[in-house]
Amino acid sequence: MKPWEKYIRKVVPYVPGEQPQGSRLIKLNTNENPYPPSPLVTKALKEMDGEAFRKYPDPAAAMLTSELAKAYRVNPNQIFVGVGSDDVLGMAFLTFFNSEKPILFPDITYSFYPVWADLFRIPYETPALDPDFRIRKEDYFRENGGIIFPNPNAPTGLEMDLCEIKEILQHNPDVVVIIDEAYIDFGAESALPLIETYENLLIVQTFSKSRSMAGMRIGYAIGHPDLIQAMSDVKYSYNSYTMNLPSILLGTQVVRDEAYFRETLKKIVKTREETKVWMRELGFEFPDSKANFLFVTHKQVPAEEIFKALKGEQIYVRYFKKKGLDQYLRITIGTDEEMAVLRRFLEKFFRV
Ligand code: PMP
Repeated sequence: MKPWEKYIRKVVPYVPGEQPQGSRLIKLNTNENPYPPSPLVTKALKEMDGEAFRKYPDPAAAMLTSELAKAYRVNPNQIFVGVGSDDVLGMAFLTFFNSEKPILFPDITYSFYPVWADLFRIPYETPALDPDFRIRKEDYFRENGGIIFPNPNAPTGLEMDLCEIKEILQHNPDVVVIIDEAYIDFGAESALPLIETYENLLIVQTFSKSRSMAGMRIGYAIGHPDLIQAMSDVKYSYNSYTMNLPSILLGTQVVRDEAYFRETLKKIVKTREETKVWMRELGFEFPDSKANFLFVTHKQVPAEEIFKALKGEQIYVRYFKKKGLDQYLRITIGTDEEMAVLRRFLEKFFRV
């Protein structure tokens, strides 16, 4: 070992889903939106000139923040934007989870949470989901240094009712509670209205799924101005110019096109519900997802075998080789055409 090596921060990094290249493949492994973003984006991109690249961006991204504020009927000082919700969540961990007490998040959830906790040396505990993969609200009624969970949860897709979220908030007035609503637009109820009552509630959302902008990296948090101010102070102590100017400009266009947004969501939800029906007929079981993916297991065939067979056909889904998850596949809802290819292959595979 070289002498300086002992001063290196040791981390076990988050492993993102594969990004295979090629035009023939069907990519259902990282929960992207199968539809392109609003046509306003393509138009704005064509009109973009060198000015969008020459200057530093507005560090407050005011144009995007005020468009989001309008869309969600809050004040601009209640919104924090960042480079994908990963950036926003990481910043929130750093800003709010500084107690000696462990923060709490479910044992089966977004696998980035323990990585941030380790990176920032935040102690944590992970209450187990119940046998039906549901978060047990009572597990969050004890002393802690903060709480975070996605709603709907990932990778299960299960929604927690607002009244249960309210109960968690009532039991936790002294810590920040973060609800990661990455998949909220696909049919679950947002906890956003609760920010009026609970000043310690932070809602985090993203442009990566429902708004078809994963490649642009845009995420945001909504909460009490004091929470937002605290996050901004941390951000300005690390890197003022997190969001690039093209992302700010194009992200603003996306928020303006509410009609396109709603229409795309409707298509995905319809495809998801149809997929549930034929998947059940093929012998799959899964929690009743409110997200843009299904978390499925098969009664007879091991998940890894199905995963490999699909990959052989250039159909990519997500497989987590981890205890408790290794009999499941997470399948993103694609277009109707993509799901039809998946269905045809699976029917052949199971010899239906
Ligand atoms: N939260 C959850 C629950 C997710 O599944 C993801 C996607 N990996 C994210 C946050 C981060 O998404 P992004 O950084 O693209 O906004």
